[in-house]
Amino acid sequence: MNHETYMKLALEEARKAEAIGEVPIGAVIVQHGEVIGRGHNLRETEQNPTYHAEMMAINEAAEYLGSWRLEDCVIYVTLEPCVMCAGAIVMSRIPVVVYGATDPKGGCSGSLMNLLTEPRFNHRATVIKGICQEECSTALTEFFRNIRKNKVARHKGVVNLEVETTEEELEE
Ligand SMILES: [Zn+2]
Repeated sequence: MNHETYMKLALEEARKAEAIGEVPIGAVIVQHGEVIGRGHNLRETEQNPTYHAEMMAINEAAEYLGSWRLEDCVIYVTLEPCVMCAGAIVMSRIPVVVYGATDPKGGCSGSLMNLLTEPRFNHRATVIKGICQEECSTALTEFFRNIRKNKVARHKGVVNLEVETTEEELEE
């Protein structure tokens, strides 16, 4: 299977996050062609700042292997890893990182900095970006567009309850 095939599995994970109102980010970890870890963003549901998709997948893969060293593994993630997840990738010795969309505001795998290729660390990963980029970033932009739409709708609902609806508002 190629990178796109595994990224589609990460996108499936992202959709699981979206289905429960989480920002749609998903990850899978593959070793020798087999998926050994899956994860999706659960930060809001669990109110835990460390429950990013990559962290969930790393925990599952480490448990499966019975080892903190995720050697010969590839992590596929729909969004560029943040400072924490890039750090966890270095700490778990994952040799290859494949991501979809870039994160110019928080990405630490090439955007703001690149912890994965930092020569001063004792571990470096090969980074492949832009796999299924459009699909990965569309999932995110549509999610945030829907949130804004819902906010506006709720706001209008409140306005209509509290004050008399004017003709102008009805025409909208
Ligand atoms: Zn993260």
